Amino acid sequence: MLFSYNALLSGILLKGEEALIESSISERYLRHRDKTLEKQVAATFRRILGKHSKSHRNVYEELGRQYEHDLVTFTDNVCLFVESKASSMDEPFRDPEKSFTRIRRSFRSQSGIQKAYNQSLRIYNKLRDEGLVLFDKNGELSPQIPKFKEDDAFCVCVTRDNFGPIATFLSPLLSKEDGDPYPWVVNILVLEQIADTWECFGWDGRQLKALLSQRILLHENVFSDDELDYIAAYICHCGLHHLAKNKRMFFQLDPKYALIFDQIYRHKYHGEPQKTIYLTRPAISALQEFSLTDRRASVTNVPQEPIMVGRNELCPCGSTVKFKRCHGRLEKGRKA
Ligand SMILES: [Zn+2]
Repeated sequence: MLFSYNALLSGILLKGEEALIESSISERYLRHRDKTLEKQVAATFRRILGKHSKSHRNVYEELGRQYEHDLVTFTDNVCLFVESKASSMDEPFRDPEKSFTRIRRSFRSQSGIQKAYNQSLRIYNKLRDEGLVLFDKNGELSPQIPKFKEDDAFCVCVTRDNFGPIATFLSPLLSKEDGDPYPWVVNILVLEQIADTWECFGWDGRQLKALLSQRILLHENVFSDDELDYIAAYICHCGLHHLAKNKRMFFQLDPKYALIFDQIYRHKYHGEPQKTIYLTRPAISALQEFSLTDRRASVTNVPQEPIMVGRNELCPCGSTVKFKRCHGRLEKGRKA
Protein backbone atom coordinates (compact mmCIF):
# COMPACT_ATOMS: atom_id res chain seq x y z
CA MET A 1 0.00 0.00 0.00
CA LEU A 2 2.05 2.90 -1.25
CA PHE A 3 0.19 6.00 -0.20
CA SER A 4 1.36 8.30 -2.97
CA TYR A 5 0.61 5.67 -5.62
CA ASN A 6 -2.95 5.33 -4.34
CA ALA A 7 -3.25 9.10 -4.24
CA LEU A 8 -2.18 9.24 -7.88
CA LEU A 9 -4.82 6.70 -8.91
CA SER A 10 -7.50 8.50 -6.89
CA GLY A 11 -6.45 11.76 -8.55
CA ILE A 12 -6.92 10.27 -12.02
CA LEU A 13 -10.32 8.85 -11.08
CA LEU A 14 -11.39 12.12 -9.52
CA LYS A 15 -10.40 14.22 -12.54
CA GLY A 16 -12.00 11.72 -14.90
CA GLU A 17 -15.22 11.86 -12.94
CA GLU A 18 -15.17 15.67 -12.86
CA ALA A 19 -14.85 15.72 -16.64
CA LEU A 20 -17.80 13.34 -17.02
CA ILE A 21 -19.96 15.34 -14.62
CA GLU A 22 -19.30 18.53 -16.59
CA SER A 23 -19.93 16.86 -19.94
CA SER A 24 -23.17 16.49 -21.90
CA ILE A 25 -23.60 12.88 -20.72
CA SER A 26 -23.47 13.92 -17.07
CA GLU A 27 -26.95 12.65 -16.22
CA ARG A 28 -26.39 9.30 -17.87
CA TYR A 29 -23.07 8.93 -16.10
CA LEU A 30 -24.52 9.71 -12.66
CA ARG A 31 -27.40 7.29 -13.14
CA HIS A 32 -25.01 4.59 -14.23
CA ARG A 33 -22.69 5.32 -11.29
CA ASP A 34 -25.55 4.99 -8.78
CA LYS A 35 -26.91 1.80 -10.36
CA THR A 36 -23.45 0.22 -10.48
CA LEU A 37 -22.91 0.81 -6.78
CA GLU A 38 -26.40 -0.47 -5.92
CA LYS A 39 -25.77 -3.69 -7.84
CA GLN A 40 -22.36 -4.16 -6.22
CA VAL A 41 -23.85 -3.60 -2.75
CA ALA A 42 -26.65 -6.12 -3.29
CA ALA A 43 -24.21 -8.75 -4.57
CA THR A 44 -21.80 -8.21 -1.67
CA PHE A 45 -24.51 -8.49 0.99
CA ARG A 46 -25.59 -11.76 -0.62
CA ARG A 47 -22.04 -13.07 -0.20
CA ILE A 48 -22.09 -12.06 3.47
CA LEU A 49 -25.61 -13.17 4.39
CA GLY A 50 -25.47 -16.41 2.44
CA LYS A 51 -27.40 -17.80 -0.51
CA HIS A 52 -30.57 -18.28 1.52
CA SER A 53 -30.89 -14.54 2.06
CA LYS A 54 -33.61 -12.68 0.19
CA SER A 55 -33.51 -9.16 -1.11
CA HIS A 56 -35.66 -6.53 -2.79
CA ARG A 57 -33.99 -3.79 -4.77
CA ASN A 58 -35.52 -0.41 -5.58
CA VAL A 59 -38.74 -0.85 -3.65
CA TYR A 60 -41.24 1.80 -2.61
CA GLU A 61 -43.10 2.23 0.65
CA GLU A 62 -46.20 3.53 -1.08
CA LEU A 63 -47.95 3.26 -4.42
CA GLY A 64 -47.08 5.94 -6.95
CA ARG A 65 -43.32 5.48 -6.42
CA GLN A 66 -43.25 7.21 -3.06
CA TYR A 67 -40.27 6.77 -0.73
CA GLU A 68 -37.83 4.63 -2.61
CA HIS A 69 -35.38 2.32 -0.87
CA ASP A 70 -32.30 0.94 -2.61
CA LEU A 71 -32.18 -2.44 -0.93
CA VAL A 72 -34.02 -4.40 1.73
CA THR A 73 -32.22 -7.67 2.40
CA PHE A 74 -32.93 -10.27 5.06
CA THR A 75 -32.44 -13.78 6.36
CA ASP A 76 -34.47 -15.58 9.05
CA ASN A 77 -32.81 -13.57 11.78
CA VAL A 78 -31.54 -10.27 10.44
CA CYS A 79 -32.99 -7.54 8.22
CA LEU A 80 -31.01 -4.67 6.67
CA PHE A 81 -32.35 -1.43 5.20
CA VAL A 82 -29.58 -0.32 2.91
CA GLU A 83 -29.15 2.99 1.12
CA SER A 84 -26.20 3.46 -1.24
CA LYS A 85 -24.44 6.79 -1.75
CA ALA A 86 -22.12 7.00 -4.73
CA SER A 87 -21.25 10.68 -4.50
CA SER A 88 -17.77 11.72 -3.46
CA MET A 89 -16.83 13.64 -0.37
CA ASP A 90 -16.47 17.42 -0.56
CA GLU A 91 -12.85 18.37 0.00
CA PRO A 92 -12.55 20.47 3.15
CA PHE A 93 -10.87 23.90 3.10
CA ARG A 94 -7.71 24.58 5.03
CA ASP A 95 -9.38 26.96 7.46
CA PRO A 96 -10.71 24.61 10.18
CA GLU A 97 -13.90 26.57 10.85
CA LYS A 98 -14.93 26.89 7.21
CA SER A 99 -13.87 23.32 6.78
CA PHE A 100 -16.18 22.10 9.51
CA THR A 101 -19.13 24.04 8.07
CA ARG A 102 -18.47 22.52 4.67
CA ILE A 103 -18.13 18.98 5.99
CA ARG A 104 -21.34 19.36 8.00
CA ARG A 105 -23.23 20.79 5.02
CA SER A 106 -22.05 17.93 2.85
CA PHE A 107 -22.98 15.39 5.56
CA ARG A 108 -26.55 16.75 5.63
CA SER A 109 -26.97 17.29 1.89
CA GLN A 110 -29.21 15.29 -0.45
CA SER A 111 -26.31 12.96 -1.26
CA GLY A 112 -24.93 12.78 2.28
CA ILE A 113 -24.93 10.23 5.08
CA GLN A 114 -27.62 12.01 7.13
CA LYS A 115 -30.08 11.72 4.25
CA ALA A 116 -29.32 8.00 3.83
CA TYR A 117 -29.87 7.53 7.56
CA ASN A 118 -33.21 9.37 7.51
CA GLN A 119 -34.38 7.24 4.58
CA SER A 120 -33.47 3.96 6.20
CA LEU A 121 -34.78 5.05 9.61
CA ARG A 122 -38.19 5.76 8.05
CA ILE A 123 -38.55 2.18 6.91
CA TYR A 124 -37.03 0.86 10.15
CA ASN A 125 -39.70 2.70 12.16
CA LYS A 126 -42.42 1.53 9.83
CA LEU A 127 -41.34 -2.05 10.30
CA ARG A 128 -41.40 -1.60 14.04
CA ASP A 129 -44.82 0.05 14.08
CA GLU A 130 -46.77 -1.63 11.30
CA GLY A 131 -44.91 -4.51 9.65
CA LEU A 132 -43.80 -4.15 6.09
CA VAL A 133 -45.44 -4.09 2.69
CA LEU A 134 -43.41 -2.74 -0.23
CA PHE A 135 -44.12 -2.07 -3.90
CA ASP A 136 -41.93 -2.35 -6.97
CA LYS A 137 -41.72 0.35 -9.64
CA ASN A 138 -44.77 -1.01 -11.48
CA GLY A 139 -46.87 -0.76 -8.35
CA GLU A 140 -46.86 -4.52 -7.83
CA LEU A 141 -46.72 -5.74 -4.27
CA SER A 142 -43.33 -7.23 -3.38
CA PRO A 143 -43.48 -10.47 -1.42
CA GLN A 144 -44.23 -9.56 2.18
CA ILE A 145 -41.21 -9.01 4.38
CA PRO A 146 -41.60 -11.01 7.56
CA LYS A 147 -42.01 -9.02 10.75
CA PHE A 148 -38.76 -8.52 12.62
CA LYS A 149 -38.05 -7.48 16.16
CA GLU A 150 -36.40 -4.07 16.15
CA ASP A 151 -33.17 -5.58 17.53
CA ASP A 152 -32.94 -7.73 14.41
CA ALA A 153 -33.11 -4.82 11.97
CA PHE A 154 -30.40 -2.29 11.06
CA CYS A 155 -30.12 0.93 9.10
CA VAL A 156 -27.14 0.71 6.75
CA CYS A 157 -25.53 3.26 4.44
CA VAL A 158 -22.96 2.05 1.92
CA THR A 159 -20.76 4.74 0.38
CA ARG A 160 -18.64 4.38 -2.72
CA ASP A 161 -15.85 6.56 -1.35
CA ASN A 162 -14.04 6.24 1.92
CA PHE A 163 -15.38 8.96 4.23
CA GLY A 164 -12.95 8.09 7.03
CA PRO A 165 -13.93 9.27 10.54
CA ILE A 166 -17.03 11.07 9.21
CA ALA A 167 -18.49 7.61 8.65
CA THR A 168 -16.85 5.55 11.39
CA PHE A 169 -17.59 7.90 14.28
CA LEU A 170 -21.02 9.41 13.81
CA SER A 171 -21.88 11.12 17.09
CA PRO A 172 -20.39 14.56 16.23
CA LEU A 173 -22.38 15.08 13.02
CA LEU A 174 -25.41 12.80 12.91
CA SER A 175 -28.69 14.25 14.14
CA LYS A 176 -31.01 11.67 15.57
CA GLU A 177 -33.61 11.34 18.33
CA ASP A 178 -32.58 9.72 21.61
CA GLY A 179 -33.55 6.10 21.43
CA ASP A 180 -33.22 5.85 17.65
CA PRO A 181 -30.42 3.45 16.70
CA TYR A 182 -27.20 4.60 15.06
CA PRO A 183 -26.79 3.34 11.51
CA TRP A 184 -23.84 1.37 10.20
CA VAL A 185 -21.96 3.35 7.56
CA VAL A 186 -19.45 1.38 5.53
CA ASN A 187 -17.77 1.85 2.18
CA ILE A 188 -18.04 -0.72 -0.58
CA LEU A 189 -14.38 -1.78 -0.45
CA VAL A 190 -14.62 -2.55 3.27
CA LEU A 191 -17.90 -4.37 2.66
CA GLU A 192 -16.18 -6.54 0.04
CA GLN A 193 -13.37 -7.28 2.46
CA ILE A 194 -15.95 -8.36 5.03
CA ALA A 195 -17.46 -10.67 2.40
CA ASP A 196 -14.02 -12.23 1.71
CA THR A 197 -13.48 -12.71 5.44
CA TRP A 198 -16.93 -14.19 6.06
CA GLU A 199 -16.39 -16.63 3.18
CA CYS A 200 -13.00 -17.63 4.59
CA PHE A 201 -14.50 -18.38 8.02
CA GLY A 202 -17.73 -19.92 6.71
CA TRP A 203 -19.78 -17.25 8.51
CA ASP A 204 -23.14 -15.75 7.53
CA GLY A 205 -25.85 -13.31 8.62
CA ARG A 206 -25.74 -14.48 12.23
CA GLN A 207 -22.22 -13.16 12.73
CA LEU A 208 -23.05 -9.97 10.83
CA LYS A 209 -26.02 -9.38 13.10
CA ALA A 210 -23.91 -9.91 16.23
CA LEU A 211 -21.28 -7.55 14.84
CA LEU A 212 -23.76 -4.80 13.92
CA SER A 213 -25.72 -4.92 17.16
CA GLN A 214 -22.48 -4.20 19.06
CA ARG A 215 -20.84 -1.94 16.47
CA ILE A 216 -23.63 0.66 16.44
CA LEU A 217 -23.13 1.20 20.18
CA LEU A 218 -19.57 2.49 19.70
CA HIS A 219 -20.23 5.82 17.98
CA GLU A 220 -19.78 7.83 21.15
CA ASN A 221 -16.72 6.39 22.84
CA VAL A 222 -14.64 4.15 20.59
CA PHE A 223 -12.81 5.90 17.78
CA SER A 224 -11.04 4.74 14.68
CA ASP A 225 -10.95 6.29 11.22
CA ASP A 226 -10.98 2.85 9.61
CA GLU A 227 -14.07 0.63 9.79
CA LEU A 228 -11.85 -2.42 9.39
CA ASP A 229 -10.36 -1.80 12.86
CA TYR A 230 -13.79 -2.29 14.42
CA ILE A 231 -14.44 -5.43 12.38
CA ALA A 232 -11.00 -6.81 13.30
CA ALA A 233 -11.69 -6.10 16.99
CA TYR A 234 -14.96 -8.05 16.69
CA ILE A 235 -13.04 -10.94 15.16
CA CYS A 236 -10.08 -10.99 17.59
CA HIS A 237 -12.02 -10.37 20.80
CA CYS A 238 -15.02 -12.56 20.04
CA GLY A 239 -17.34 -9.58 19.92
CA LEU A 240 -17.23 -5.90 20.79
CA HIS A 241 -19.15 -6.03 24.07
CA HIS A 242 -16.03 -5.38 26.16
CA LEU A 243 -15.74 -2.01 24.44
CA ALA A 244 -19.44 -1.22 24.25
CA LYS A 245 -19.77 -1.78 27.99
CA ASN A 246 -17.27 0.82 29.05
CA LYS A 247 -19.13 4.06 28.31
CA ARG A 248 -17.11 6.20 30.70
CA MET A 249 -13.88 5.80 28.77
CA PHE A 250 -12.95 7.10 25.37
CA PHE A 251 -10.86 4.67 23.34
CA GLN A 252 -8.97 4.88 20.12
CA LEU A 253 -8.54 1.55 18.39
CA ASP A 254 -5.01 0.60 17.45
CA PRO A 255 -4.60 0.91 13.64
CA LYS A 256 -2.72 -2.43 13.73
CA TYR A 257 -6.04 -4.20 14.25
CA ALA A 258 -6.83 -4.08 10.54
CA LEU A 259 -3.61 -5.95 9.66
CA ILE A 260 -5.41 -9.28 9.96
CA PHE A 261 -7.23 -8.41 6.73
CA ASP A 262 -3.93 -8.41 4.85
CA GLN A 263 -3.39 -11.99 6.04
CA ILE A 264 -6.90 -12.98 5.01
CA TYR A 265 -6.42 -11.31 1.61
CA ARG A 266 -3.13 -13.12 0.98
CA HIS A 267 -4.74 -16.40 2.01
CA LYS A 268 -7.73 -15.92 -0.27
CA TYR A 269 -6.07 -14.47 -3.35
CA HIS A 270 -2.45 -15.64 -3.15
CA GLY A 271 -2.88 -19.09 -1.63
CA GLU A 272 -0.82 -18.40 1.49
CA PRO A 273 -1.70 -20.70 4.41
CA GLN A 274 -4.37 -19.30 6.72
CA LYS A 275 -2.77 -18.15 9.93
CA THR A 276 -4.30 -18.83 13.31
CA ILE A 277 -5.91 -15.78 14.87
CA TYR A 278 -5.72 -16.00 18.66
CA LEU A 279 -8.83 -14.92 20.51
CA THR A 280 -8.15 -12.65 23.42
CA ARG A 281 -9.90 -10.12 25.59
CA PRO A 282 -8.91 -6.59 24.60
CA ALA A 283 -6.03 -5.40 26.71
CA ILE A 284 -5.38 -1.73 27.31
CA SER A 285 -2.18 -2.23 25.34
CA ALA A 286 -4.29 -2.82 22.26
CA LEU A 287 -6.38 0.27 22.83
CA GLN A 288 -5.05 3.69 23.31
CA GLU A 289 -6.93 5.15 26.14
CA PHE A 290 -7.54 8.85 25.81
CA SER A 291 -8.33 11.25 28.54
CA LEU A 292 -10.83 13.78 27.19
CA THR A 293 -9.26 16.60 29.17
CA ASP A 294 -5.59 16.47 28.28
CA ARG A 295 -5.71 14.33 25.12
CA ARG A 296 -2.62 12.39 26.07
CA ALA A 297 -2.63 8.79 25.12
CA SER A 298 -1.51 6.37 27.75
CA VAL A 299 -0.51 2.91 26.69
CA THR A 300 0.08 0.25 29.29
CA ASN A 301 1.32 -3.18 28.52
CA VAL A 302 -1.15 -5.64 29.90
CA PRO A 303 -0.87 -9.18 28.55
CA GLN A 304 -3.91 -10.18 26.55
CA GLU A 305 -5.97 -12.76 28.31
CA PRO A 306 -7.05 -15.64 26.05
CA ILE A 307 -10.76 -16.33 25.69
CA MET A 308 -11.48 -19.94 26.64
CA VAL A 309 -14.72 -21.51 25.46
CA GLY A 310 -15.84 -25.13 25.05
CA ARG A 311 -16.19 -26.14 21.40
CA ASN A 312 -19.85 -27.01 21.79
CA GLU A 313 -20.77 -23.99 23.85
CA LEU A 314 -22.44 -20.98 22.25
CA CYS A 315 -19.90 -18.51 20.91
CA PRO A 316 -19.46 -15.50 23.23
CA CYS A 317 -19.70 -13.11 20.24
CA GLY A 318 -23.49 -13.34 20.42
CA SER A 319 -24.08 -15.01 17.06
CA THR A 320 -26.10 -17.88 18.67
CA VAL A 321 -23.82 -20.29 16.78
CA LYS A 322 -21.74 -22.99 18.53
CA PHE A 323 -18.18 -21.83 19.18
CA LYS A 324 -16.65 -24.50 16.93
CA ARG A 325 -18.64 -23.19 13.94
CA CYS A 326 -18.11 -19.54 14.76
CA HIS A 327 -15.01 -17.91 16.25
CA GLY A 328 -13.60 -21.38 17.00
CA ARG A 329 -12.79 -21.65 13.28
CA LEU A 330 -10.05 -19.03 13.63
CA GLU A 331 -7.95 -20.97 16.10
CA LYS A 332 -6.70 -24.11 14.48
CA GLY A 333 -5.60 -26.93 16.74
CA ARG A 334 -6.94 -25.19 19.79
CA LYS A 335 -7.85 -27.40 22.75
CA ALA A 336 -11.37 -26.92 24.14
ZN1 LIG B 1 -18.47 -16.06 17.30
